[in-house]
Amino acid sequence: MGKSIIRIKDVTKFYRMGAETIAAVNGLSLSIKQGEVCCLFGKSGSGKSTLLNLIAGLEKPTSGQIIFNKKHIERMNEDQLAEFRQKYVGFVFQSYNLLPTLTAMENVTLPLIFRGVPVQERNERAMEMLKAVGLEGRANHKPSEMSGGQQQRVSIARAFINSPQVVFADEPTGNLDTKTTYEMMDLITGLAKKNHQTLVIVTHDMELSEYADRIVVMMDGKIERIDEQQQSGGEEV
Ligand code: ADP
Ligand code: MG
Repeated sequence: MGKSIIRIKDVTKFYRMGAETIAAVNGLSLSIKQGEVCCLFGKSGSGKSTLLNLIAGLEKPTSGQIIFNKKHIERMNEDQLAEFRQKYVGFVFQSYNLLPTLTAMENVTLPLIFRGVPVQERNERAMEMLKAVGLEGRANHKPSEMSGGQQQRVSIARAFINSPQVVFADEPTGNLDTKTTYEMMDLITGLAKKNHQTLVIVTHDMELSEYADRIVVMMDGKIERIDEQQQSGGEEV
């Protein structure tokens, strides 16, 4: 696999809670390679979401460096961070985060609206994405008129519509049943692999780590170990 797209160097994130300081991420270094499916795995409270939010530019580290394609995320101001997220990253959240008053189609077009894509192209691309996630028949449905799995499909379509270099997913199947979970993981990893996109998935479910090229096991804000997955279909020795 190719070169690093994200390099995390000795990063910490401390939260002050009254007299106490919580080290959510505590001196962590990691490189994520272009095109890899990287799974952040660990118990609740181990710092997975905090690390994801730091890499995605949603939060600022207390110290350390986060370098995305030679750009220092930790040095960016709010405007630069917003632009960075718009251009390079997509998000899938556990709770879908769809806008309730918008249709599936409108939700999927949102990232294109922010980028100033003309309306007709927007709608065409959104329809293509809805097809890719198997929801062309639900384009005019609002989130409340869809199942959890369908809502997550819409959010996956939204995450991928800009062809971002990296897609971040924080417990994307946390609210879904087992069958839907596997459908959703197949969909996300399939889209990412097809377009050579990098995928960073947070989960506490060991079953899901089978989708990963690498599993970064976290504990107390640090990396406990990294497991490399044997790729099926490889050459025999
Ligand atoms: P995980 O996603 O692995 O469950 P988190 O990254 O959410 O873990 O949290 C790691 C630690 O940091 C936990 O102890 C949590 O309570 C703490 N933490 C996370 N976010 C905040 C915050 N905004 N303020 C204070 N403490 C936080
Ligand atoms: Mg979390």
